Amino acid sequence: MIVLMQNEFVERDQCLIDIEDRANQFGDGVYEVIRIYDGECFLLDDHMKRLEYSLREAQIDYNLDQHHLKDLLLELAKKNGVHDGGIYLQISRGSATRSHPFPKEATPTVIAYPLNISRPLEAQKNGVKATLYQDIRWLRCDIKSLNLLGNIMAKQHALDVGAFEAIFYRDYNHVTEGSSTNVFIVKDGVIKTHPANNYILNGITRLYIQYLAEQLNIPFEETVLTVEEVKHADEVFISSTTSEVISVVEVDEQPIGNGQPGPIVTQLLDEFFNYHRITSLT
Ligand SMILES: *Cc1c(COP(=O)(O)O)cnc(C)c1O
Repeated sequence: MIVLMQNEFVERDQCLIDIEDRANQFGDGVYEVIRIYDGECFLLDDHMKRLEYSLREAQIDYNLDQHHLKDLLLELAKKNGVHDGGIYLQISRGSATRSHPFPKEATPTVIAYPLNISRPLEAQKNGVKATLYQDIRWLRCDIKSLNLLGNIMAKQHALDVGAFEAIFYRDYNHVTEGSSTNVFIVKDGVIKTHPANNYILNGITRLYIQYLAEQLNIPFEETVLTVEEVKHADEVFISSTTSEVISVVEVDEQPIGNGQPGPIVTQLLDEFFNYHRITSLT
């Protein structure tokens, strides 16, 4: 595997990261997962913009040259022969003697490497189960931060109870998102999802679904959903770079609709690749 480290391409075992890189002790960094379809990075510009947002909000002093980084990522994909798959990209605040305050002199550490990702066709065909899980995360979920302890505990809980994804709620009146996905419902023909604020990560796939809904004339509403609304929705679905769109057919033993993927999620999935050459959503 060839890895991008700062501006250089090295073999994986040559990619030496200091033990005091702040990603290690503090999870002090941000990341992106980018999908590659047919040799092309899907919505790369939007990922770059979100990365810039995460860096700014985390006050990581990194002068992101989007064009340069894009070129490096494309070259990384090429060097690794990635035709269908993905790229993981991480930027930490850098390496410094362990101490909580931001280090005065640290150079952010940039690494990127290829990911094996294949389409979740089985899950898309049959739908998946989800379980509700209390949102135990912090209040800056809009930053795609390396701190994922709350997310991975939720995901493991989901797997432990035989579900595919955990759906977070802050209280019964406030469903936020999935452990690594955004959550949507369909009610009376309207797609509804949490507003893009500090309670959720504004997924690029979420933005793409908003765009698809516009193209297909499906009403799209950003609103806070309750647990009851989710459980009694006509359809529930989740989205992410790796999941694309997956129907949720059961939430904690409660079948959604008739327990099969519904018409809107099916339509979104059918149309998913009809617009995927769009280069930027925002
Ligand atoms: C990355 C992520 C998503 C999905 O974002 P995409 O850009 O669509 O992959 C949703 N929720 C959380 C918590 C995430 O980390």
